[in-house]
Amino acid sequence: MNHLQNLKELSEAFGISGYEDDVVEIMKSKFEKHATVLRDRIGSIIAEKKGICDVPKIMFAAHMDEIGFIVKEITKDGFIKFLPIGGWWSAGLPGMRVRIKNKKGELIPGVIGLKPIHELSPEEIKKLPEIEQMYIDVGATKGFQVSEKLGIRPGDPIMPVGQFEAMANTDLLLAKAWDDRMGCALLVDVLEELAAIDHPNTVYLVGTVQEEVGLRGAKTSASLIQPDLAFAIDVSICRDTPGNGADAGEKLGAGVAILIYDRTMIPHKNLRDFVIEIAETNNIPYHLTSIKGGYDTGAIHLTNFGVPSLALGIPTRYVHTASSIISYEDYERLLRLIILIVKNLNREVMEQILR
Ligand SMILES: [Zn+2]
Repeated sequence: MNHLQNLKELSEAFGISGYEDDVVEIMKSKFEKHATVLRDRIGSIIAEKKGICDVPKIMFAAHMDEIGFIVKEITKDGFIKFLPIGGWWSAGLPGMRVRIKNKKGELIPGVIGLKPIHELSPEEIKKLPEIEQMYIDVGATKGFQVSEKLGIRPGDPIMPVGQFEAMANTDLLLAKAWDDRMGCALLVDVLEELAAIDHPNTVYLVGTVQEEVGLRGAKTSASLIQPDLAFAIDVSICRDTPGNGADAGEKLGAGVAILIYDRTMIPHKNLRDFVIEIAETNNIPYHLTSIKGGYDTGAIHLTNFGVPSLALGIPTRYVHTASSIISYEDYERLLRLIILIVKNLNREVMEQILR
């Protein structure tokens, strides 16, 4: 039950790339209970959990940022022009409800506006809407001074609204920002479990910043930690919806996703095989997956002299929208797998992996 509370709190927190402070606060309060907490200089938060050996140093990274927008300028009529932060598809934006965080930290409600379909020419209807044509409406009317009354300035961050809900199919959870608050919640749950056991290594649980704009906090936190091995914990592709390539193993409830390829990294094959063996021995359902984007490990594995790395996830529907879906059962399986990885990854096993 506690896990669900964690998932709700983290998914609903405000934290676009570069403005992860609210998420940091949540992570910090949970990390402090069981670990030494470190920060890198651009904001990533690190829980250092010592086991009975210093080596191997194992890093698990989940990014705290979600995609969002920032205020670019306010028109004289009080409409807000904005810049996208991270990968949005423009077709999904008109009508989306948002919150703008002003200088006092208040969350101002608004909606992304665009000329209505009735006003578009046949040519315009065929094209994707352009973000440059859109604006945020915070209730602008004649004479209402948006900057003065609402304290909104250029540079203020904006996030989509997306309430956490358990679906009628009760294993499924609907929320904004599963990418990657799912991973953040897992780090917290992993630490809670590690606090109660001996493990033959030192574990670094890292909430990274600015993943969605180029894996930036992954790079800085890894250069601080200098891990021997690393994992990204993040959402993975789900292909079980209409028109999405039937029969694929990537579906809700299919268990842990183990990455075989993304554009930023070829996962370390011995590390991958070690993880597959643990999943098979312990009957944890898993599937292999690939993605066109990248994960934090894309940056981590190129730090220092190279860090053998692997990305693990769970299938997630509608990533990079304001409403995404995960399976709680998959979440628990990934939690179990990570704990088993930590219990089994001692110096000797690491040396075999590195051979
Ligand atoms: Zn992500």
